[in-house]
Amino acid sequence: MIAFFQSSIFVNLAYIFASILFIFGLKMLSSAETAQKGNLVSASGMLIAILVTLAQNEIIAYEYLVIALIGGLIVGVLASSLVKMTSMPELVALFNGFGGIASLLVGVAEFINPSSTTLIQIIAISFTVLIGGITFSGSLVAFGKLSEIISGKPLILFGQRFVLSALLLVALLLVFELIISTGLLNISSQAILFILIGVTLILGVLLTAPIGGADMPVVIALLNSYSGLAASSAGFVINNNVLIVAGALVGASGLILTNIMCKAMNRSLSNVLFGGFGAATASSDGSGQIQGEVKPITAEDAYLILEAANSVLVVPGYGMAVSQAQHVVRELGELLEDNGCEVKYAIHPVAGRMPGHMNVLLAEANVSYDVLAEPDDVNPLMETVDVCIVIGANDVVNPDARENEGSPIYGMPVIEVDRAKTVFILKRSMAAGFAGIDNPLFLKENSRMLFGDAKDSISTLVSEFKS
Ligand code: NDP
Repeated sequence: MIAFFQSSIFVNLAYIFASILFIFGLKMLSSAETAQKGNLVSASGMLIAILVTLAQNEIIAYEYLVIALIGGLIVGVLASSLVKMTSMPELVALFNGFGGIASLLVGVAEFINPSSTTLIQIIAISFTVLIGGITFSGSLVAFGKLSEIISGKPLILFGQRFVLSALLLVALLLVFELIISTGLLNISSQAILFILIGVTLILGVLLTAPIGGADMPVVIALLNSYSGLAASSAGFVINNNVLIVAGALVGASGLILTNIMCKAMNRSLSNVLFGGFGAATASSDGSGQIQGEVKPITAEDAYLILEAANSVLVVPGYGMAVSQAQHVVRELGELLEDNGCEVKYAIHPVAGRMPGHMNVLLAEANVSYDVLAEPDDVNPLMETVDVCIVIGANDVVNPDARENEGSPIYGMPVIEVDRAKTVFILKRSMAAGFAGIDNPLFLKENSRMLFGDAKDSISTLVSEFKS
């Protein structure tokens, strides 16, 4: 009986079943109603894959696995309990990096293992190390940018383009040498592998550092895809079918997400990846040079306008996540609806700091998916909206994206709140958003700044409605 459970037929059938569960789970994630179940279905697939792998007689020593499991559990529990919800985006970036380094280490371990000499495995190891290394160091840079340890602006070093091209060439030559073994380098293949690791780590930094500002979502999605491709390649290294499939699924969904993010920015992938090279000309660069008058409003006065409004469009951004205002936002929405007002929520694909950030927060607060809209749905009707409430959003509502050819975000589709009858902008100061550029919206004739923490401001509006 035990022999049957360890036979390759059973193992591969179980892997196919697990893969089917991954695919169905992914499909279910595409709708809010089925997302929770989808997570469970995918997790069950992963559990089956793990149990079947552990039951195989190829496992040499369980004690190392137990040590890794305990280590992983401690890190996972600490990360999920200590890291604040507002720090989730940088944690996700870090997890992408962990995926990359894990695949790289699998590649290195198999390379050092004297039995792994087949050509396919050497090819797979080379690509696993190449993609894994780039993913790891690139994700660390993304983590630094998102957590604001390093500047979110594009970091362009002198001669970056030349150094990057040269290193890419060196990496490919090293991969070629590992596969073909011409002997020209006169050093051991292990030494070549370790030089390759060093080169990929520098490449990851050089590829990610010049991308910054509003382009970051594309990089995050791309690194996510790389981590999947590295895992898939590691699957070829250790000849594990379920790892190949799971990695390919992550790689493919990451690429789809990258494409969605590129569309949201109205940029091509090559433009995002290499557009940062060279000086960006920006007439509004966060230096406070834009002209006009700031018109502050109190929550009490804002209430009087909202009380008379027939249609309200809520536009959340990163500030809503920082202030954790989603629950009071839902409460305000319900009070407005009770008052006979039509309420909609416009979600920009790159709002917040990770894909789907705003959707997750609003779903957590039980805001119905029926009232969520995309920029393309709301922009044509913007003139008919009585009040737009911009809650901690900045870059995604910046009219410079339409009006200022010198702006780094020129051409990016934004939510055109400035075309509504009145705009309330809830934020704490006149500070710039992630892209670090000024926002002329704050000075438009129909704009009113409601300064303060978003949750506090909305709570005051809610109290006004209730009294
Ligand atoms: P922004 O980063 O442009 O602006 C957020 C605004 O929130 C700030 O101007 C800040 O102003 C305000 N804010 C911060 N804390 C609070 C608070 N407690 N209460 C009220 N307001 C607050 O956010 P957007 O969502 O508009 O745009 C997202 C940006 O992040 C884009 O540039 C996008 O490209 C980038 N990005 C997105 C990723 C994604 O996957 N979605 C990933 C990486 C980057 P103040 O300090 O004055 O309060």
